[in-house]
Parts: sequence; structure tokens; C-alpha cells
Amino acid sequence: MKEFNDFIWETHGIHAGTEQDHVKHGIDRLEDIVDKAIEANHPSISFIIHSPRLTNFRYIAERDTNVKFIRGNQSYLNYPKRIANLREKYDGKINIKYGVELEWMGSDLGLQWSRSKIFQAEDADFVIGSVHFAPEGLPYDGSIEEAQELLKIRGSLENYWDGYFNEMIEMIEAFGDMIQVIGHIDLPKLNVEMPESLIHFETSSHPLANKFRTLLEIIADRNLALDVNMAGKFKGVGVYPTQNILKRAYKLQIPVCVGTDTHHVKYYGLNFKESLEYIYQAGYQQYVSYSKLIPEKRTIFDDHDLKVKYTILNKGIELLNQRFHDNRRRIIPDFSFGGSFTEFLDIYNNSIGMGGYNAIRIRKSDKSITITNETPIAEKYKVKGLFSEHLDKPGVISSLFNTLASEGINVETARLKSNNDGTAVAFLTIKGENENIENAIDFIGGTSGELFTKLTYKEDADLPNYYNDGVYLLELDGVELKLPLREKVILTKHENAPGVLLILLSALASKNINIVDLRLGNRNRIGYSALAIEGDSNTIRRLLNKLGSQYFEANLIEFHSM
Ligand SMILES: [Zn+2]
Ligand SMILES: [Zn+2]
Repeated sequence: MKEFNDFIWETHGIHAGTEQDHVKHGIDRLEDIVDKAIEANHPSISFIIHSPRLTNFRYIAERDTNVKFIRGNQSYLNYPKRIANLREKYDGKINIKYGVELEWMGSDLGLQWSRSKIFQAEDADFVIGSVHFAPEGLPYDGSIEEAQELLKIRGSLENYWDGYFNEMIEMIEAFGDMIQVIGHIDLPKLNVEMPESLIHFETSSHPLANKFRTLLEIIADRNLALDVNMAGKFKGVGVYPTQNILKRAYKLQIPVCVGTDTHHVKYYGLNFKESLEYIYQAGYQQYVSYSKLIPEKRTIFDDHDLKVKYTILNKGIELLNQRFHDNRRRIIPDFSFGGSFTEFLDIYNNSIGMGGYNAIRIRKSDKSITITNETPIAEKYKVKGLFSEHLDKPGVISSLFNTLASEGINVETARLKSNNDGTAVAFLTIKGENENIENAIDFIGGTSGELFTKLTYKEDADLPNYYNDGVYLLELDGVELKLPLREKVILTKHENAPGVLLILLSALASKNINIVDLRLGNRNRIGYSALAIEGDSNTIRRLLNKLGSQYFEANLIEFHSM
């Protein structure tokens, strides 16, 4: 039996404080807890803040002190900035994540209010949707007295829970596209009992059991994750959710995230290992965390090799997801595993094998990527093409493609290598007969000779491979590319015709974006390109948006996951 990790990538993590606002709900000095995490050698820490509530949704304690600005509007607005400052201060020391716990306050004003709050935390890593308040204005997680008051209004335990689940379902229907995670799904157990029909919801024919089963299915169908929240254990009512709910979630293939929902520095790290034991008991061997709304997979085990494989997997998931718009990123992809990654076949129930092919393939609707950390084996076959030795600076490759295009020559594949000394080499394979190739070489020699030190065309050359250690994008939609990944990568899917690629290269050259590596591939009329580049992300995104209709897809990929 493998050991469980003693660190967790929390999602519902540490509640960030309210600064100068009146109500205390979370930790004010975020530095204290970051220092504590660094001391413990933790790679990451996750902060979360409640979205501010409407005045009608107040805990008794808040009413008694006449606090109107619930949980701090100002501190909420300052929150992204505070996190940005923290990230700057602790750069290179620890990864800092942050999210929002979005309050459900009904589908009227509450919904518009909450939507507006999402915009104020635009760069959040995740958003958790939580129901803390009944429309009657009473909290589920306030005092026992408040819960008793609500119970009296609703008449029975079943009705009490039924109302809560109705609100959950309503929240998912209204917020479904804005949240990634469902917070503490059985929160009311904090103050009231669970009725028999809910304790045995799997088999009960009571309408409440049916409603709860439906709720879980809605969560599965919407690709939302379930918050496994240790605050319930901390408060003595057991982890949210109960073990049998979690087992059902596992069968429905609902991803889980783990968190301690900590509100005080001194409890940081409490129940980390227990949370992993708890999900393992229900069948889970992994959980998710989030980076910029994209789910990352995490193993529950303290196993170095497995963690390395998860790092590759997460890079792949980020890569594939960044080819989709935000609202489709949450949709869980399908997986294929081969070679050293076959142990994932046991972890992913519906994944499929690729035999000895040492790679991970991740698929979603009509897109797929294949990724590995194995350096590709150098292929040994003869090719015809153009070898270039040139200065390693923006625009050089573009000028080469420009000249070739002007002679009607279409480049089929390209490989680049920076020598890291201001020079670079490239090899371009050329399709068909090319009596014009010598013209092109002459032209380059005559017009931009200072950029190129050597340019030779060979009919029968050994294919240079330029492969180093790294993580490789092997294929895009099944088309071979073999690009070693860098911090910033451009992927395009375009019409495979002369001159089309030149549009992209010229666009990059016009903004002084340097191409560090470039791989091309194609299948019939569809061309693919993968470029490792260096330059300003916003500039790159702006020009990728303007490439025109021959580009079916043009995405800048950046990696945030660790
Ligand atoms: Zn909560
Ligand atoms: Zn919370």
C-alpha cells in the first residue's frame, strides 16, 4: 500500500480576511499563513473569499451588531490585488492560488448581484458555488436557534432539506457556467439531523431521496466538482459530504476537490492527510485543484514517479483546454494511456490503452492532443529540403518563408533550433519538384544576406532531429508535431495552402515576437503548426485574433499548473 501525501492542493482552502470591514470572516494577515506553508515546505497555498451578501442575508450575530456591509465589500474588491501583491512578494517560493465562494441568494436580485461579483474576481483560479442562506433569510450554518426557526417555518426535517436541495439545483441552473465546484453539499447537517430518507438516499423511495439523487446526477452532467470539506469534521458533524454520498459521486465519476475551509492561522494543515484517506475510502485515487479555472489532477499518494506523470497529464489538460473557450474548459475530457502511463488506466475508469506507445492522449469533442516526457527517437530517413544557419532574432524565419512563398514553394515541415548564442539553425522540408528553390536561395543571399550565414538545398539529406529532454507535444488532433514545450506556445489549425503560414509568421515578425521552435504537420487540406515563442502575451493574443478565415484555430497556450 502506497503512503498518502501529507500535503493537499486545497480548493476550499483558507478564508482570506476582511481587512478594515466590520465582520471577521477569515484571516487578515495572509503573510502569516503563507510563511507557515513555506516553513512546512508546501508547494502551494489556496485562499478563498466569500462574495459579499445582500443586507437581507445576515446571520443573527451580524444583525445584532447592525453590520450592513456583510463580510466586507471593500475587502472583496481589494482581494485580487492583495493576492497579486502576495504572488509578487513570494515569487519563486510558493505557488499561490485564489478563488471565490459565491453565495447563492435566490434567483432575483441575488443572482444579478452575484453575477456582478464574479467580474470583480476575474482572474480567480476557481469559483465555488455555495448555499448558506434560505430564501427566508435564515442561514443553514448559523446558530442552532436560526436553524430551529427555519425548521419551524418549513414544518418538517424533510421539507427543511428539500428546500436546501431546491436552492442547490436552482443555483446550478443559474450559476452552472460560472462555477467549477459545489460547496459542502450536505451543509445543513451542521445544525439539524438528516432524515432517514436522506441517510439511505440510494434506496429510499421518498421524494427527498429522489431529489437528492437527481441533484448528484445534475452535478455529474454539468461536469462540476464536489467540495470534500473538512470543516464538517472540525465542527464535529463529519466531513461534508457523508461517505455514502461520496461513494455515489465516485460512481457518477464526479471529480472531487479537497479543502479544510480554514478560518484561523493555527489550524492551517489540519486534516490534510485525513481528507485523502477519506476520499480514498470512497474509491478515489485522485482529486482536482484549479489553475485559472482549468482543473488539474492530483494523486492522493506520496509517490514521486506518479507525481511526475501527473505533471505531464496536467500540462496536457491545460494544453487541450486552452484550445477551448472558457465555458467549455470544465467539460471533462477522455483519456488514452500507453507505455509508462498505463497505470492511469486503473485510475480512469473509462480510459483506453495505447499499448507500448509511451504517451497520454486527451480528447474532447473534435480536438485532441498527445503528450509525453520521453524524448522522441531520432528518425533516420532521407529527406529533401533547405538547411539554414541564421541569426536568432525575430523576423528571420518569416523572411525565409516569405521568399519561398514568393516562388510558390510550400514548406511541408519545419524544425528549428536555437544555439543560444545568437544564432540558430533550421531545416525545412519542401514538397514536390522545386526548380525555383535556387532562385529563392539567390534572392535571400542578395537581399538579406546579413541575416543568413548559410543556406543550402539538399535532395538526399539526413533528417536533423534537434531533440533534447523535455515534455513533448507529440500530436495535435492525431497529426504528428513533436514540439518540445516551452513557457509559451502557439498552436494553429489552418488551411494547408501556400502562403497561409506566412500570414502567422509575418504577424509575429511585425511585433518582434521571436520564434524559438517551429513544427508543422498536415493531414490532407488541414495544416497544423506548433510554435514555441517569446514575447508579450497580450500582443500575441491580439494578433492571433486577426489572422483571418484561413485559420480555423489559433491559440496562445501558457502553462500555469505545477
Ligand atoms: Zn461555505
Ligand atoms: Zn468556506
